Amino acid sequence: MRLSALITAGLLLALLFKGCDYRQASLQPKALFIGMDGVQLQHYEQLGADTNLRKRLFYGKAYAGGICNRDSKQATNSGPGWITLLTGVWANKHSVISNDESLRVDPAFPSLFKRLRDALPNAYLASIVNWPPINTAYLLEDAQGNNVRESGLNDEQVTTRALEILDTTPADFTFVHFDEPDQVGHSDGFGQAYQLALRETDDRLGRLLDKVEERANKNPHEDWLVIVSTDHGRDATGKGHGGQSLSEKTIFIASNKPLNEELTEPSIPEENPGPDNLYSFAAQTSVAPTVLRHLGLALSAQWKLDGTPLLGATGVRKARDIEAAAKLSWNSDAQSAVTIYKNGQVVAHVQAHDQQWVDPQGMRQLDDYVLELGDTPVAVRTEPEKSQTCN
Ligand SMILES: [Zn+2]
Repeated sequence: MRLSALITAGLLLALLFKGCDYRQASLQPKALFIGMDGVQLQHYEQLGADTNLRKRLFYGKAYAGGICNRDSKQATNSGPGWITLLTGVWANKHSVISNDESLRVDPAFPSLFKRLRDALPNAYLASIVNWPPINTAYLLEDAQGNNVRESGLNDEQVTTRALEILDTTPADFTFVHFDEPDQVGHSDGFGQAYQLALRETDDRLGRLLDKVEERANKNPHEDWLVIVSTDHGRDATGKGHGGQSLSEKTIFIASNKPLNEELTEPSIPEENPGPDNLYSFAAQTSVAPTVLRHLGLALSAQWKLDGTPLLGATGVRKARDIEAAAKLSWNSDAQSAVTIYKNGQVVAHVQAHDQQWVDPQGMRQLDDYVLELGDTPVAVRTEPEKSQTCN
């Protein structure tokens, strides 16, 4: 009797945890995304073990710039990078392919601000940026529904405003953008001034983390996710970026919460591992689906997000196309079926551990595929007419 009651209780508990995914439904989710422009991870780590990054956050290496010899290749510049972080797709979908301020995000691939506004009409959304075009160009129409949209502040003013918002508003989703490391990199390259800019940015990160902790202590029903990332790395001198070198493509994603194996356990895409196995790490597209999932939105296959979420189940990992063989490929050892969508229609169900599927119709045009395992979709766009290089 006792034993069976225990087993029943255990089963119930297991069901509860499965049903609730990684987060307790009774908690009120909040997210703060801190962007640091042009931060080279290696140099940030060289500040030593006492940074807020190393002491207070979980973090892992990631990559920007898409896959250099595939359709997702994009310049390691700020416009493409920030919009990829904020949409969860590469520039071949979001359309912000350069820093040209006449560019706007493709409404078919809206930013976090638009997706959250549509799903949560009463959410408090804020975007406070040093580099204006994020707010004043690329997301000009997209983020119209924001409660706060401020641009062209210096990093200290960005910090002050962010602290104020965290102090006095519901602050459901807040994006802040710091620019000093990028500015100093462009003027001085790597060296003492760049290290000082990184130290100052890390101090500002610390003040924001203090504020989040203070607020979470006062409001135990709030469940805070903090994400920190950068739009691109830097070239060998530290002065430039935009290309596809390992150092320009290397970025990081950090969080106050432990993230899933997509960030912590690299998984190699065998036929195209990238320089120094870079593509086995998380992609810059992972931030947006992570924030959406934390804030309670179910990730939809119809959104065609390219990124694997870093909280909850990963779904299949490293989804990719091998166009010459009309093949989709992915990494997974799951014992269940992947649903494959092509341009919004279900075209196949395949065992996840098969790790590949050949499209009987071939891959000769622009097609959007989505691979959905459980409640986690991930997308791949194929554009065979585009031939990309790694320069
Ligand atoms: Zn930048």
